[in-house]
Amino acid sequence: MTAINVLVVEDEDAIREMLGMVLEQAEFSVQAAPDTQRAQSLMTEHMPDLIVLDWMLPGLSGVEWARRLKKDKEYGEIPIIMVTARGEEEDKIRGLDVGADDYVSKPFSPRELIARIRAVLRRSGKLGKSGRIEFGGIVLFPDEHRVIIADNPVALSPTEYRLLEFFLTHPDKVYSRSQLLDQVWGRSSFIEERTVDVHIRRLRKILSEHGREDLIQTVRGFGYRFSEQT
Ligand code: CA
Repeated sequence: MTAINVLVVEDEDAIREMLGMVLEQAEFSVQAAPDTQRAQSLMTEHMPDLIVLDWMLPGLSGVEWARRLKKDKEYGEIPIIMVTARGEEEDKIRGLDVGADDYVSKPFSPRELIARIRAVLRRSGKLGKSGRIEFGGIVLFPDEHRVIIADNPVALSPTEYRLLEFFLTHPDKVYSRSQLLDQVWGRSSFIEERTVDVHIRRLRKILSEHGREDLIQTVRGFGYRFSEQT
């Protein structure tokens, strides 16, 4: 099996090198460029499976390049994860508007980025359906809707399953109840935010039977975080 090829476009040397290392540790093959012009020429030599693209770059910006790529016949299908330093909602929406498949905001943990890359690759069918999601000793098999912890099967309702899948693919970051409602139940659902707490409680109880309830952390006044860090 050939490795998934990720193209990293980032002008800050330290961050570009860190990303390269993190991705190689996760067994991706990595190409890296400090600007979009050099990224473009790397692409003509070796087609990437996914692009991790910094928002602010010298010359043609990441967001403008993403817009062009997504309209391109040859490159339009390559998933793009935008990396943004500014946390503003407006920028994220613009990023998704130009066709980016997801975004992460700096600062992000390496694990969060890898989880997002895997989720995007899975959605685009580039990681075979057998691609499993692993975090904190929990293993989820998306094609079988099956979860195991330390080799023990875990029984979950469809909602708890979706909630756990979201957490496993979005670790280390705090999500508000309304964000979780949007992401797990869907924007159009008419469910009260309290419902989120009910399902969190159930999921925690299930995880506690396997000694992993500590993974779901309550962040007072904001929401929940799924993390091994305390
Ligand atoms: Ca930059």
